[in-house]
Parts: sequence; structure tokens; C-alpha cells
Amino acid sequence: GPTKAPDYLTGLNPEQRAAVETTEGPVLVLAGAGTGKTRVLTTRIAHILATGRAYPSQILAVTFTNKAAREMKTRIGLLVGGEVEGMPWLGTFHSIGVKILRRHAELAGLKPNFTILDTDDQIRLIKQLIQAENLDDKRWPARTFANMLDGWKNKGLAPKDIAEGDARAFANGKGRELYAAYQERLKSLNACDFGDLLMHPIAIFRGHPDVLFDYHRRFRYILVDEYQDTNTAQYIWLRLLAQRSASSGKAAGGPKPRSAVPAASSPAREGDKASEDIRPFSDDGEMPFDGDRFERPFADGYDDPDAHDGMWDEPASAEIAPSPDRETSIRVAADERHSGNRHVDKATQESRPTINICCVGDDDQSIYGWRGAEVDNILRFEKDFPGATVIRLERNYRSTGHILGAASHLIAHNEDRLGKTLFTDTPDPEDPKVEVNAGWDSEEEARAIGEEIENLQRNGHNLNDMAILVRASFQMRTFEDRFVTMGLNYRVIGGPRFYERMEIRDALAYFRCVCQPADDLAFERIVNTPKRGLGDATIRLLHDYARQRGVPLIAAAGEIVETEEMKPKPRNTLRRLVADFRRWSELLASTKHTELAEQILEESGYTEMWQADRSAEAPGRLENLKELIRSMEEYESLPSFLEHVALVMDTEQSGELDAVSIMTLHSAKGLEFETVFLPGWEEGLFPHQRALDEGGRSGLEEERRLAYVGITRGKRRVKIWFVSNRRIHGLWQSTIPSRFLDELPEAHVEVMEANTSYGGYGAGGFGGYGASRWDGGAAFNEGAYRTPGWRRAQAAQAGFADGGQGGRGDGWSGGRTRELTYESDQSP
Ligand code: ATP
Ligand code: MG
Repeated sequence: GPTKAPDYLTGLNPEQRAAVETTEGPVLVLAGAGTGKTRVLTTRIAHILATGRAYPSQILAVTFTNKAAREMKTRIGLLVGGEVEGMPWLGTFHSIGVKILRRHAELAGLKPNFTILDTDDQIRLIKQLIQAENLDDKRWPARTFANMLDGWKNKGLAPKDIAEGDARAFANGKGRELYAAYQERLKSLNACDFGDLLMHPIAIFRGHPDVLFDYHRRFRYILVDEYQDTNTAQYIWLRLLAQRSASSGKAAGGPKPRSAVPAASSPAREGDKASEDIRPFSDDGEMPFDGDRFERPFADGYDDPDAHDGMWDEPASAEIAPSPDRETSIRVAADERHSGNRHVDKATQESRPTINICCVGDDDQSIYGWRGAEVDNILRFEKDFPGATVIRLERNYRSTGHILGAASHLIAHNEDRLGKTLFTDTPDPEDPKVEVNAGWDSEEEARAIGEEIENLQRNGHNLNDMAILVRASFQMRTFEDRFVTMGLNYRVIGGPRFYERMEIRDALAYFRCVCQPADDLAFERIVNTPKRGLGDATIRLLHDYARQRGVPLIAAAGEIVETEEMKPKPRNTLRRLVADFRRWSELLASTKHTELAEQILEESGYTEMWQADRSAEAPGRLENLKELIRSMEEYESLPSFLEHVALVMDTEQSGELDAVSIMTLHSAKGLEFETVFLPGWEEGLFPHQRALDEGGRSGLEEERRLAYVGITRGKRRVKIWFVSNRRIHGLWQSTIPSRFLDELPEAHVEVMEANTSYGGYGAGGFGGYGASRWDGGAAFNEGAYRTPGWRRAQAAQAGFADGGQGGRGDGWSGGRTRELTYESDQSP
């Protein structure tokens, strides 16, 4: 008879449930914002685990941020009713990439304890290469080349793949050469950059089918969130991992076609008991392990958390995975190991292994085109994975009807889209409309938003439920300053990061030198910080010596102090420094890492340097150093902490504190908040001028998707702002309202009265000027605003169309909500 579905499935709608229960075969969930895509992924993992289809370490799950990965882990735990141990392969492309690379570093010419360069290091290194080529680094800036490198690596292009024309774009055709030299230099530094975290694994997979095959056997299920924002390199990496038929060599027969029939209504298949049988995990959530341990020469302190999971030893699958859908490859593998003890059905063995990949995404939320993301990846999913089940979700669970209406109407202005239906619950008359507010300048915008936040707080709303989403990070500072003045708690997410502060970077450089003696860039950074009298001449000497011998700087320093090549004074200083580093390195194994870190900063004189500093920032810097040591506590060792720092993309702040979040629209992807403030909706800022200049229509469409992402973050309240004056790069500029405002549907939007200290906004009936509702005033105000003709025409059109629609005499066109106009004395 029918069995009761497990709790975690009951809240899902039929389509969501199909996406969760169609565990075998390729699945694409293509759906709009807030329809539960991420929830489906999370539940799907819980389902796979609960039904014993796979163990945590057999699931590869890719999220867009580290934060999302952590949240997903917690939620899975809640769904399956207990701690989820393991899930070692749930993370971002980068964090999974680095893990794979550490296992096989030698295959990429690296040692397993390689360093990951941050942007600063990268730029410094490129600069050296450019100078070594005798090129003018003013004419050919390192930063430009770093961007080119990034672009190539996002496309999965190695130096040999660079087209001639592409290479010529930099330094008269030296681009490709520089790229190759850069990679060589990285190798000699035992380092890689972020792009390499995917590039190296791709090369390894391609060059070593045995390695790839191991991963094919390991990853039973692959899941990817935010699939619309994968770039080509990520796509190649995924396909290599997913297309297991190629290297397992068992390909035959086509994949079974799938349909999106909710499994709930389909008859239970024979042997599919697994779904009813919620298996408890073994104590550690991992496979019993029979001594065939995966061993790699990990450097001291680099403890690969996966090294003892025993998963390279394939389980006797029939016992843990009674589902007939479960992988041929398991059976084959098991059979191979147990030398024919197990009966293997010939037909099963020959059929092509199922590719259990599930990607979820929304083409309307593709916002990383500028960083190489290819929305096409999502559009060609069905071609890539024939027989894929495509599931659409249409019910939005996140936002009110007004928010959804506003977002949908706006995004409909894009031509390049698949188009989706979205609906939400019957609107509650109490739901507030999307607000549009006008302000005089950015200061006023920050002040007014601050006041609104305080009001909401007074009425019992948590700061944690509010976010300010900006288009450009420079907008953040005004809010930060304002909130500091007000004493309002806030956190900046993905902004100028804690780990990027000078004192933190210095301290980290010391730690890197201790853990990774080949890290020349770190050594260069601190060799004379604090000032030790080791000037440029000494550094140059060290460099020459190191180059001649082909050793790292720190080793060169150790040797050179035994020679006569240096003057006695710097020689003694350097000798002491080298001895310090040796001592610290030896202490790595025996001393608690937080104590050692503190000791390093003390003994090197670094802490003292800031204690002696009389500047206003010095106390704050000392605070930050303390905070740095505190934050290490969570990690096991100095190396694992350093790795965390290298990977961390968003500012890690205490989640306990009730605080407003400030972040860019880009980093808000996937998140949701009760109340969302969207400041800065002005032409040039949003849509951003650079996107328009460089991207043309597609640039504009990407900006519009960003606006869609912004609006759809809101659950209940969305408050948009635009101002007439904004300081951009230190200069006040008068601005005109964003065209996106014209694209919002009147029915879901309320134009707020100017309720601020500047009462200078005149009121006027909607459409009364026959121009845009936003800059209708501007049309009459030629002195202050020069509205382009196309815009006025478009605005007029919009104005009349909307005016007709909204001609009920209430709200829009009458008293309560009013047209915003500008008065001439408001020009700056
Ligand atoms: P985005 O495109 O913005 O990433 P999404 O499609 O991933 O959105 P989720 O974040 O998974 O959407 O879900 C949005 C909200 O709706 C969440 O708060 C989620 O818990 C809730 N939700 C999703 N499905 C259901 C459901 N079946 N019942 C109740 N709430 C749901
Ligand atoms: Mg999501």
C-alpha cells in the first residue's frame, strides 16, 4: 500500500517533488527567482542520503558562495534530522577545485602545499614579468594583463590555446608568451591563481583518464546551483566529471528517456524500496573502510579531510544501494574487486552508466556575463545530456504579488530570454507595493534609509531581515559612515574585506613564509616590515642570488648570510630573520597555532611596530590583528587557516549580531530578506555606464537582470531610491532617474512623497506633463537635466500607457501618491 512520504518531501509542490525524486539521469530545473530551486537541491541531497542512494562523500554539490555551502549543509542536516557528517564535496567551484588539486598537485607540477595567490600578489608577479621582458609597465599595465589572464582562464584556455590575434592585444603579441612565463613562474613559486583551481584539474582530468575515472566512480550524484552563471571553464570541468561513460568504457545503448511525472503518483518500481527505507548513517556517516587508504604525500599540517574516508575503495554497492537505478559502474567495480563473486547482469553491465547530474538555474538571473559566464550553458543542457528531464517551477514562495509583479514586468523588457511564468499566492491587500523614493543626494538617501531602518526596528523588525543592495561598491561607504554615526549595526558582505587590510595582509605574509618557505611574494612583503634596514639593495642582491641558484628567496637568504656578499649589518639582521623563520617553522608541529601566530607577530617586531605608531589608525590595526588571531581558533592549523583565507570571498562576520546587510547586487544572488533597499537607481550608475559602453544591448540586458535579481530578493518590502545628485569619484554630478524605473508597472509600485528634510519636490498628477512619471519634471527643467530624446519619447509612451491603465483616480494619479518633479533651484 502507499507509504507516508518522509517529512522532508511533504512541503513540496508536485514539480519540486519530481525534481527531488527524479534522482537518476540528468535533470535541469529551469525556474524563476524564489521558486525553490535551491530548496529543491537541498532536499534532493537529503533524499539521496536518506534513501541510501549514496554516502555524503559520493555527492558533488556546487554552490555559488561559501556562505551558501554552509547554509546548505545546515539545512540538509535539519531535513534528515541529524548532523550531516562529511559532505566533503559540497562547496564552490573554487573550494572543490582546490581540494582536487591538492590531491594531484604533482600532476600539475606543484607540491600539495601550494599557495593560492590573491590579486595583489598576482599583480606584483605580473609586473615583474612585464619588466623582465623590458616592456613599459605604464603602457602595458599589469592589471590589464591580469584581466586578460582571467578571461582566458574563464574560457578554459591554456597558453597554447590562445589565438594569435588574442595574444597580440597585449604587448605587441607577447600576450601568449607572458601567459606561459607567468605559469612557469607560478610553478617555481609552488603557487597557483584562482583560475588555476579549475584549469589544473581540467588538464589533469584530460591527461590522466585513470584519475578522472576515480572521480567518476566516486561521484554518484552531481548537483549545481546557479547554473546560469557557470563559465566555460566550470562547464568543461563539470562535463568531464559528469560524462562518465567516456572513460568507463562501458558505453552502449542510449540513456532512458525521462519524464517529469511526479514520482509520488508513479507506481513503485520493483526493488525501489530504498525510498521507503530511511537508512541511518553509520556512525561517521562514511563507508566502512578496509585499509585501502587513499594516501598522498600531504605536507605537514595539510590534512586532507577526505584522506581517511576510504571512498576510493568502492563499496559493495548492492548492499547499500538496492535501487535498480543505481549505477552500472558500481556493480562493475564491485564485481571487479570481488572477482566475480557477485552476479552481474550482462545487460546492466553493458548499458551506459546514468549521469546523475542536476542543475538548477534561471536565465533571467544570469549576471556574471562580464566575468565570462555563459548563459548558453543552461540553454544547451538538453543537448549536452540527452534524455534530460527538464522541470519548470512556477510558483514563487518568496515574495508578495507586488514584488513579483514589478520584477516580472521589468524583466519582460529583455529580448534575450526564455520567458517564464511566475505566480504567487493570492495577494494580501495588506502587502505594501514596491516603493520608489526620490532624494536630493546620496547623503540624504543614506540618511533617509537609515531612518526607515530605525523605524522598522522600532516596530519589531530584525535588522538581520534587512539588506541594502548597491550596484557599485563605492556606494557602500556613505551607508557605512551614516550607520556608524547612528550607531546602527551593519555588516558588509563581499565588500572591502577584512583580510585585505594592510595589517592583516602583513600578518598573513608572515604566516605564509612559515608554512610555505617557497612563498617569495610573502617574504618580499615582510622582509623589511617592520623596518629592519634591509633596503632595496639587499632585496636585489637576494633576488639575484635566488635566481642564480634557482631557490626561493628565504633559502637564498639562509645561504647568502654565510657569505661575504653583504655588509655586516644587514647580514646580521637577515641572519636573525632567517633563524626566526626556521624556529617558527619547527614550532608548527608542536605549538598551538593561535599561540604560534601571536608569537610570530611579537617576535618579528610587527606588533611592536603598531604599538609604537602614533597614527589614528594604529589602535584599530592592533584590534584587527587580535581579531585575526581570534578568527583562527576555528581552524585546526595555520595552513588550514591560510587556505580558508585564500578561499574566502565574502566577509565573515558573526552571524549572531543583529545587523543590516550591505552588499552589491551581484553578491546578493540566491539570498532573501524581508525588506530590501535598492538605492542608486540612476542612469549611469544603474544601468551602469560601463555595461552600456562595453556591452551595448546585451550589457543593458544584463543590468536589467541585475535589477530583477535585486527586486526578487525582497520577501515583503522593496524600497527603491534614486537621487538627483551623486558624488562619483569625488565629483558631484547631477543625475537622471534610471530607465528601469520607467519599466516598473504602475499597478505594483507606489511613488513615495518626498518626506525628507528637503521638501523641494513639487507634486503633480501622474502623466500630467505628458512625460515620464520620474523625470517629467526634468523635461521642463532643461537647466538641470538634459533628457535624451529617445528617453523622453519612451517615457511619454510609458506615461500614457500607464496613465490609461491606472486611470482610476485613486492612488497613482491622485492625492496620496504624487508625481515627483524637480524645482529649478535644486540644481547643484
Ligand atoms: P533564487 O532564484 O533567488 O535563488 P530559488 O529558486 O533558489 O531562488 P529558494 O531560495 O529555494 O528559491 O526558495 C525561496 C523561498 O521559498 C525560500 O524561503 C524557501 O524556503 C521557500 N520555499 C520554496 N519552496 C517552498 C515550498 N514548497 N513551501 C514553502 N516554502 C517554500
Ligand atoms: Mg537559489
